[in-house]
Amino acid sequence: MGWKVKCTSCGTERVLNISFDIGRQKTIYIYCNVCKKNTFNEILGYIDEEAK
Ligand SMILES: [Zn+2]
Repeated sequence: MGWKVKCTSCGTERVLNISFDIGRQKTIYIYCNVCKKNTFNEILGYIDEEAK
């Protein structure tokens, strides 16, 4: 489970495995493996992978 985010620079979507609540903010500034730099990532929502 984690937060699904989308890089606003390259559009890559991925899941962040972080425990703290980022749901109250629209974006998070973190490192993007595709852009190879810190970018703003849109927070799309919380994903519960254990529900599969
Ligand atoms: Zn990116």
